[in-house]
Amino acid sequence: MPSQSSDVLIIGAGIAGLVAAHECLDNGRSVTLVDRHDENRVGGLARTAFGGMALVGTALQKRLGIRDTPEIALSDWLSFAEFTDEDEWPRRWAEYYVEQSGERVFDWLRDKGLRFMPAVNWVERGDFVPGNSVPRYHLLWGTGLGLVDRFIGLLAEHKNRDKLRYVFNCRVDDLITEDGRVAGCRGEIEPTGETREFRGGVTIVATGGINGNLDKVRVHWSEAPEELLNGSHPYCNGHLHDVVERHGGVVTHLENMWNYAAGIPHPQPHFDSPRTEPDSLQVGFVAGSYGPAHRPDAARYGVRYPRDVQTTGRAREAVELAAAQLAHCRQGIRYLRFRAQSAHSRQPIAAVPQGNVVRQPPSRPADAGRE
Ligand SMILES: Cc1cc2nc3c(=O)[nH]c(=O)nc-3n(C[C@H](O)[C@H](O)[C@H](O)COP(=O)(O)OP(=O)(O)OC[C@H]3O[C@@H](n4cnc5c(N)ncnc54)[C@H](O)[C@@H]3O)c2cc1C
Repeated sequence: MPSQSSDVLIIGAGIAGLVAAHECLDNGRSVTLVDRHDENRVGGLARTAFGGMALVGTALQKRLGIRDTPEIALSDWLSFAEFTDEDEWPRRWAEYYVEQSGERVFDWLRDKGLRFMPAVNWVERGDFVPGNSVPRYHLLWGTGLGLVDRFIGLLAEHKNRDKLRYVFNCRVDDLITEDGRVAGCRGEIEPTGETREFRGGVTIVATGGINGNLDKVRVHWSEAPEELLNGSHPYCNGHLHDVVERHGGVVTHLENMWNYAAGIPHPQPHFDSPRTEPDSLQVGFVAGSYGPAHRPDAARYGVRYPRDVQTTGRAREAVELAAAQLAHCRQGIRYLRFRAQSAHSRQPIAAVPQGNVVRQPPSRPADAGRE
């Protein structure tokens, strides 16, 4: 079986894999980046993401007169995180993130040439328990696609770019273990059926979440509504989660999914797979009213899930709400430009041709880079 090796093997060329690859090249390591998608979908889910990031104590917050500190942010986080005594690592991550996100996300992305919108949104304030007590949701200029494009470019022009090798259309099926450690992975080049092995001094699994696999979602969400829409992609199926677990890795907290209630079927789904529902079109997802309780266990707070919107004829209401929420974004961004043709979500609504995300971000306004 053909085999190739590098210092670092990364499975998954989503934004996590791309950023990891960039760090490795910076440190002079050779990298193999393997993905099941073809090269047109490099970047994974981030290609369609809004690009909002909760960041703490940034220069932009200061400029807008928002006082935010790691202590305030940690207190907010602990208010809705529902950590138990066993959650030592999640707690440590929260502590680390609130301390570091200003410098290691905001400043770092700006150093990479990315810019943020000159406003900070105040989302997830918490409907049922207190959430964010100050605005800290920073919007990346160019949305998630801008982020992906930038990192593809950074890798392409990196001084160590010769050390990077992409492998597309390869479905990784298993990890290879030797002497009690992970030594690589094996998979199949799907268009040809050829099996391949990849070896790495270090192997990083960056294959995303489980939400492209609605059966798996239901396993971890016992009270899931009958009707679920898939806003992810079919390759995000959690297979590597199972593989990692089988090889002794620890996988936890799969029940803590982030699901949106305001979804309606997409009139032009990106994926046509018998295993998934049509893509969903998300509306209203910048709502300040979203609370941390929008989670699988939210039923106990009395929150009703997508049925609200999808089966009770409230699609028009959701679309109008989204439009109203976005009306204040006057910086030339047209995230949503569609009309509800029907009050019932089962009938299609008209959408911008590429869905709900602007593919080509408009040119940056003069003040977008001044934070
Ligand atoms: C509409 C939308 C809006 C969003 N908005 C935001 C936002 O504003 N802010 C925010 O922080 N997040 C947002 N998100 C979430 C965010 O986009 C994701 O959390 C993030 O992009 C996940 O990145 P990832 O690299 O971990 O995984 P993914 O993007 O899922 O990438 C995983 C990659 O692994 C590959 N892969 C999977 N299995 C295999 C296999 N067996 N073999 C080979 N390759 C495999 C896949 O093909 C994929 O390319 C949004 C998501 C959506 C859908």
